[in-house]
Amino acid sequence: MKINNYFSPNFDNAKRSTYSIKIIVIHYTGMQSERESIKRLCSSKSKVSSHFLISRNGKVYRLVKDNRIAWHAGKSCWGKYKNLNKNSIGIELVNKGHKFGYTSFKKKQLSSLISVCGSLIKKYKIQKRNIVGHSDIAPFRKIDPGEKFPWKELASKKIGIWHYCEPNFLKRFRKIKIKEKKEKIKFIKNLNNIGYCFPTNNKPLFVKTIKAFQRHYRKELINGLIDKECMIIANNLSKKL
Ligand SMILES: [Zn+2]
Repeated sequence: MKINNYFSPNFDNAKRSTYSIKIIVIHYTGMQSERESIKRLCSSKSKVSSHFLISRNGKVYRLVKDNRIAWHAGKSCWGKYKNLNKNSIGIELVNKGHKFGYTSFKKKQLSSLISVCGSLIKKYKIQKRNIVGHSDIAPFRKIDPGEKFPWKELASKKIGIWHYCEPNFLKRFRKIKIKEKKEKIKFIKNLNNIGYCFPTNNKPLFVKTIKAFQRHYRKELINGLIDKECMIIANNLSKKL
């Protein structure tokens, strides 16, 4: 695959060991155009960057080398990892995002993403459970790459995890409220096991985390409420880890 080098100055001075690379974080740019996105990610004023940027038609740019810490994740957490810049590779997908007109990701863009991820997974032995969206690791602040991102399709190529419960079976449990407290506790445990970090005693933050989970695994209804369908999905995912 052809990779176009287009370096960004936005990374830490110190080099990192490639052994510290454990996670891939997927983003959308959330800007009007590809040109504008590159400009921002490569401007020293913006203080943001990513390792890769993939255009709508699948062109891959390398903005920061893998052995440098790019500034893409911000305050974040996933499982035992905190502030993930140091442990991750960030990949930006050009998309206008929710603010400027969120559209489906294009086939060419996704096939380039699959190639980039495939080679990173092989090179750094990244676990499937550690291929996540920005919204998964920073659910209180971020919603990218958003509900149009095809996690199921990627998981079928061994990129990320999926539950594979039968959709028609699952649908019957949508909006069915859970009543028992122990069910809620089990759901929380499963979310933690998957990797989500959140305080359970802060309702707004907990709701945002449920939404992040839904945006990733149950995009048909993102309402921040735990229903039986969410319970079954979380349980199924968690069992496989
Ligand atoms: Zn992001």
